[in-house]
Amino acid sequence: MSELHDECGVFGIFKNDESMNIVDETYLALYALQHRGQIGAGIAVNKDGNMKYFKGHGMIPEAIPESELNRLGKGKIALGHVKYSSGEAVDHENLAPLVMRYIKGQLAICMNGSITNFHELREELNQGAAIFQSNGDTEIIAYLIARARINAVSIEEAVREAVCKLKGAYAIALMSPSKLIAVRDPMGIRPLCYGKIGESYVVASESCVFDSLGGEFIRDVAPGEMIVIDEQGLHSYKVTESEKTALCLFEYVYFSRPDSVVDGVSVARARQRAGELLAQQHPVEADFVCGVPDCGIESAIGYSMASGIKYATGLIKNKYIGRAFNDRKKNNEYMMRIKLNALKHNVEGKRVIVIDDSILKGATSKHIVELLRAAGAKEVHMRIASPMFRNPCYLTSDTTPKEDLIASEKTNEEICKYIGADSLGFLSTESLPQIAKECKLNFCDACFTGNYPLDVSDTSRADKYSQKIES
Ligand code: SF4
Repeated sequence: MSELHDECGVFGIFKNDESMNIVDETYLALYALQHRGQIGAGIAVNKDGNMKYFKGHGMIPEAIPESELNRLGKGKIALGHVKYSSGEAVDHENLAPLVMRYIKGQLAICMNGSITNFHELREELNQGAAIFQSNGDTEIIAYLIARARINAVSIEEAVREAVCKLKGAYAIALMSPSKLIAVRDPMGIRPLCYGKIGESYVVASESCVFDSLGGEFIRDVAPGEMIVIDEQGLHSYKVTESEKTALCLFEYVYFSRPDSVVDGVSVARARQRAGELLAQQHPVEADFVCGVPDCGIESAIGYSMASGIKYATGLIKNKYIGRAFNDRKKNNEYMMRIKLNALKHNVEGKRVIVIDDSILKGATSKHIVELLRAAGAKEVHMRIASPMFRNPCYLTSDTTPKEDLIASEKTNEEICKYIGADSLGFLSTESLPQIAKECKLNFCDACFTGNYPLDVSDTSRADKYSQKIES
């Protein structure tokens, strides 16, 4: 139950099956991506170059009422997006997809990730008298594409030129009047894949979308690759180069759904492996092991299998709240009490090992230990399926500053004391890559090690999205 904020999720579809309703398919896809963002969602649909869209705040049913789906009508290409706040004010202009008019008609675009040279690019565009409606990364990219398109021979060429100016982590989906385009950052930090539903092509942040839509996963988009889908089929281009790759390891720990496969590795299997490694690294005698829903469950199963200690349910999550409640900054303690409860019947009088995916601020872990003790647990041993989270992430949607990260200042023993557990153990940093050992990419582990894969000196979140007010 990470305190790290979620990622955004992107989706795109190019229809080749006459009977398909792509607005309905996009709507369903957003449900499959809901875990990646609950602050808002949007759909844009393209019929013969005319684009209609609807965006709203909240989780899918609230953000996009079903009545709006009819208004969006039918089309050939569609985009969908779920959003978590990237630190910017989440007013309507910052929701995606962004739909704009430019020299070649209309363009719609959405992304997941964070542009680390945001200030530099925005200033350059400001000097060219650009007028922005939002204060997010997506509009910067749209502007770069529009500007490049003036001289570029094609939209592909304009997108290539634009992304070559970007630094950072991104998975972008966009549509021109006749094409669906998806681009992944040169290090492959953010995930992106594509598949098919019948004869229609789809791109998505995660493979679980293809299962939800009854389609098939084809492959991950490679780092630095742009795929273009048009009436002639799918085309692939290498548009950016990097000497190294750096897939976000936190995709396996927390961001992605367990039924997704990210760059060749099952997320569920990666979490189970983390549990197996934890059992080797931090053994303890106990009556049963349980997981903090949702992301700690698979690791608890792995711990149980490796240690021989039985697995049982210790905590129950209220499934009818969702993380939106947290997103709206309601009272934290109140929110946690509504979200989780301990299963007294299983816990009372027992020595419990409880596994969670990560600890950021420590408040959630403290609450979990208190819940288990209040339910009568004799001992509570907390195990964390990732290393100590010591450094802010500048490459996702999260905005947690270093001073708020409990592991940036406290030792294992001090954190254990703070959360009130009998013992505490984190997965070792050295062993973390083993959870996804079949992955052909190298990893970003900067939140644990401080070794950022690229320069993040221009990414002060505090002022990235603040408006400069001058008279
Ligand atoms: S710093 Fe952590 S959360 Fe951010 S991209 Fe790297 S591994 Fe992922």
